[in-house]
Amino acid sequence: MTQTGHPELTNVRQPEEILRMKDVNELVNGFRRFQKRYFSENRALYEHLTRQGQSPKVMIVACCDSRVDPAIITDSDPGDLFVVRNVANIVPPCEIGGGYHGTSAALEFAVSALGVSQLIVMGHARCGGIRALLDDLPEATRATGFVTPWMSIVTEARDGVRAVFPGPASEARYRACEQAAIRVSLRNLMGFPFVQEAVESGRLTLHGWYFDLERGELLCHSAATNAFEVAVARI
Ligand SMILES: [Zn+2]
Repeated sequence: MTQTGHPELTNVRQPEEILRMKDVNELVNGFRRFQKRYFSENRALYEHLTRQGQSPKVMIVACCDSRVDPAIITDSDPGDLFVVRNVANIVPPCEIGGGYHGTSAALEFAVSALGVSQLIVMGHARCGGIRALLDDLPEATRATGFVTPWMSIVTEARDGVRAVFPGPASEARYRACEQAAIRVSLRNLMGFPFVQEAVESGRLTLHGWYFDLERGELLCHSAATNAFEVAVARI
């Protein structure tokens, strides 16, 4: 790439500089592989998505965790999933005014503008956000203090599992809290008027999923039992 000549773009990192950064270099090489294989082989799909715009039927609220990419887990294609990822895959309560409501904005866009018909809150095993809620926060996050108030949205999940699993930390308690937090998010979803309306009119279905990355299993929340039941067992 040559110099652009635009003074306002002089701070833009040039490809040569990017290539000096080994970890990013791996990603650039990955993009080349994607371009050569996936993009080239699916050119018609990208042309369709470019021309027609996106019309995903599914929204997924997932965790930022690097191990739980929804598109990889569900073997989805571009255009299939509208995804918002945040720490511990939390849906906050519907709060009007104040603050910057990134997750709420994504929900509003998916439900009201795109008209998705399925909305999945997907938690997972070994969630760092849930561990921070149950244990002590990592030292590095204490000074700025963004994680604590964010995780306080699911305080009732923590308090509930501490009552059921008293004593020292255990994997069972973490797992129960990861799943309890999904229930809180499902309830919070119904606090958004546009979600409630879409659900009650039958246009939208809510789902709670739990990806067990240790066992390679998918569990789904059962409205009948309020439990997470194995939907796809380990192989
Ligand atoms: Zn997580």
